[in-house]
Amino acid sequence: MATNIILLGPPGAGKGTQARRLIEERGLVQLSTGDMLREARSSGTEMGQRVAKVMDRGELVTDEIVIGLIKEKLEQGGKGFIFDGFPRTLAQADALEDLMKEEGQEIGAVIEMRVDDAALVSRISGRFTCGNCGEVYHDVTKPTKVEGSCDVCGSTDLRRRADDNEESLKTRLMEYYKKTSPLIGYYYAKGNLHPVDGLAEIDAVAGAVAAVLDEGKA
Ligand code: ADP
Ligand code: ADP
Ligand code: ZN
Repeated sequence: MATNIILLGPPGAGKGTQARRLIEERGLVQLSTGDMLREARSSGTEMGQRVAKVMDRGELVTDEIVIGLIKEKLEQGGKGFIFDGFPRTLAQADALEDLMKEEGQEIGAVIEMRVDDAALVSRISGRFTCGNCGEVYHDVTKPTKVEGSCDVCGSTDLRRRADDNEESLKTRLMEYYKKTSPLIGYYYAKGNLHPVDGLAEIDAVAGAVAAVLDEGKA
């Protein structure tokens, strides 16, 4: 059976960064609902326009929309998914379980990335990404080697997100604690929760994630 994993953690915990490592090292497919929603916004779809304001405020978009997006991707098939930023509510977690059953798949591990709030503020305020290849950078902890151009693809289209400001982050954190953190208990009860120290350096976090995944195989 394919490895399907969930990266669970507050905004800025490092989910996207670790997802990219897993794509590279294990050939898994990243399903980021945040990226899908941003794509819908920039391509100007009706749904994208509808969710834009909600996203900029830092609130969660409706379960119906994100479940629909994930369903579409899962139906396209593939093996070994990394769920990044999904599920974010108990209703989404239940829906994911049903979808996995329909596809004859299951969630192997839920990696809970633990990072304290103070670190999240500096992570979010220094975050920028490559608009071409999606590589994730940080002003202090992961700057580009050459200023203004992506290390991976050389693009100069480096972007900051409209919702990466302190005001929106406050709302995103509240949303996380109210609606998403109950998933920690949900997956703990199911027996597949694996906490990792998200405050460690990127390589060390990647090592801890790899240890969880390889232990699962033994
Ligand atoms: P971060 O990487 O900072 O955790 P994301 O890129 O995952 O943020 O999400 C950005 C925004 O997109 C969220 O603040 C929310 O408005 C919306 N969003 C993304 N995924 C979901 C989801 N599973 N459920 C509801 N809203 C979501
Ligand atoms: P998420 O997808 O959970 O919102 P990201 O992967 O986008 O988080 O990371 C948020 C910011 O923190 C980015 O600027 C990234 O470069 C940086 N970052 C990620 N992991 C670490 C880490 N372990 N140590 C220091 N900075 C990190
Ligand atoms: Zn790039």
